[in-house]
Amino acid sequence: MGVAYQLSCGHCTYNQNMYMGFGFSYCSLSSILEWYKDDVGRQRIRDFIQTDKEASFECFDGLYVCQSCHYLLNEVYLHIKSDSDDYTNRHTCLRCSALMPSKPIDQIEDVQLDCPDCGNEKLSVQSYMDWD
Ligand SMILES: [Zn+2]
Ligand SMILES: [Zn+2]
Repeated sequence: MGVAYQLSCGHCTYNQNMYMGFGFSYCSLSSILEWYKDDVGRQRIRDFIQTDKEASFECFDGLYVCQSCHYLLNEVYLHIKSDSDDYTNRHTCLRCSALMPSKPIDQIEDVQLDCPDCGNEKLSVQSYMDWD
């Protein structure tokens, strides 16, 4: 089950909702295909479904932290693996176009996040609802 968080900065007006975790539609590759948007990723999912039904995968909404500008990107992480193939989706920063780390943060409450706008240390993190 996923949890929605509100991140806010005590020094500037930065305020952002982040959806973390996974829902029912993340439980199989064919259900992921129903909502997954990226065309390259969709094709890869289809390939895995057709060629290897035993492929294992990991899929959740996570928080990518840009290493260049500290922008916070709330996006889906998808990693599919079979004996012969391996796929990890990648994202780029919406602010500076840098390639985001290959794996996002999945436990937002365990980390200390800098404000992407003013650089102040430690955003406040508050969970406000469960989704799915
Ligand atoms: Zn960036
Ligand atoms: Zn700030």
